Amino acid sequence: MDVFAMDISALSRALRERKISAVELTRSYIDRIDARDGETGAYLTTTFEQALAQAVRADERRADGEAVSPLNGIPMALKDNMATRGIPTTCASKMLKGYVPPYSATVAERLEAAGCVLLGKVNMDEFAMGSTTENSAFRITRNPRDPSRVPGGSSGGSAAAVAAGEAVFALGSDTGGSIRQPASFCGVVGLKPTYGAVSRYGLIAFASSLDQIGPLTKTVRDCALVMNCIAGRDARDATSSPRGGGDYLEDLEGGVKGLRVALPRELMGAGVDAGVQKSIQGAAARLERLGAHIKEVSMPALKHALAAYYVLSSAEASSNLARFDGVGYGVRAAHYDGLYELYARSRSEGFGAEVKRRIMLGAFALSEHYADAYYGKALRVRTLVAQDYARVFDEADVILSPVAPTVAGKLGARDKDPVKTYLGDVCTVPASIAGLPAISVNCGEGEGGMPVGAQLTAPAFAERTLLRAAYALEQGV
Ligand code: GLN
Repeated sequence: MDVFAMDISALSRALRERKISAVELTRSYIDRIDARDGETGAYLTTTFEQALAQAVRADERRADGEAVSPLNGIPMALKDNMATRGIPTTCASKMLKGYVPPYSATVAERLEAAGCVLLGKVNMDEFAMGSTTENSAFRITRNPRDPSRVPGGSSGGSAAAVAAGEAVFALGSDTGGSIRQPASFCGVVGLKPTYGAVSRYGLIAFASSLDQIGPLTKTVRDCALVMNCIAGRDARDATSSPRGGGDYLEDLEGGVKGLRVALPRELMGAGVDAGVQKSIQGAAARLERLGAHIKEVSMPALKHALAAYYVLSSAEASSNLARFDGVGYGVRAAHYDGLYELYARSRSEGFGAEVKRRIMLGAFALSEHYADAYYGKALRVRTLVAQDYARVFDEADVILSPVAPTVAGKLGARDKDPVKTYLGDVCTVPASIAGLPAISVNCGEGEGGMPVGAQLTAPAFAERTLLRAAYALEQGV
């Protein structure tokens, strides 16, 4: 039994049939992390002692004949921007080094209640800003498919842990692509749910109107299983919706016969690698063979989505990150003279370069004489993008596109010009600013044999359609 290749469903069956215990399974994963994570670099904190205690409880619940969740006894990891009571939560920032939250995120509580075993907290770009995980203040994470390459980001630790068999699944967060893009780069499945489908309570905020938590898993079915646990209304997050609840497995095997699939021209043109284009065309052809109808469409507002995203997300970040002032929590400068210096020095020392860049960009976009020209305009673009989607969804059920224009690049090869890095987010940010669900599922290989993800996007709360289409694609790869 190769427990590192098995998905949640397979492991859950093995646990039910007593072929393995949760303690044995957890020990295997701990040994695997000990053996491999020196190279992968996925974990910032491991919680092995606690994991074994959780595994013991998971076994006891089963032995007592309790009706347990399919997640009972499954070892997993959380991105380090989700608060975990008593366990360091750093956002991969010096600013929060040593910060131990007094409470847990709703998703962490729900997974724990389902009997999941938390192996630890995984790496990310600092405050979730970035696309390679190289913005982490603490360590480099490598792509398990090729250790000379990045795992993507910002949920790079989550994707790498799953791809390396160092966690059965992980949660990530996605503001402009941070679940989908690393999933694509590491060849795993990643779902960004509809804005509001999953509670953000306890997720350290980057851009509150965009942030969503979602699963990174080995299979599409696992994505549905994790959603069944984490999605749904939470009184502690006013933006969470009851429409997020229910059974995500419902339509999984329904097939794609008659499914209307739109291919937006704007996401398949210049700038998209040949290998990526070929894989996406292959995915379209496969869906067509299975009975779907493919139609090319145009979404003209998408060409402005990237610029709007960077204005909106930075504006919200500049406001959200104002709380890290050296007073309430996190790092405080050792030497300062007066309150202003306390703030200025703590923030200068605590934040990395990319975070500072976003704060400055955002503060500028919101400043008195520029707010309408930048922030106001970006809000109007946001409406236009949402209207483009609404129009396409009048005649299509899902939209198919690449997740990213390229496969994972080499470590350390990022362009000095940050805008070039931002351009890599061109395919993922549109669904983010429209608040729509989107999934990344592997559909082939590109340059260097690296995985390519197909992105499927659906109307709000139509995750079941996404999962059904992604499942059909997955069976063919
Ligand atoms: N790469 C994008 C950014 O840097 C997306 C990040 C995210 O989704 N958290 O903003």
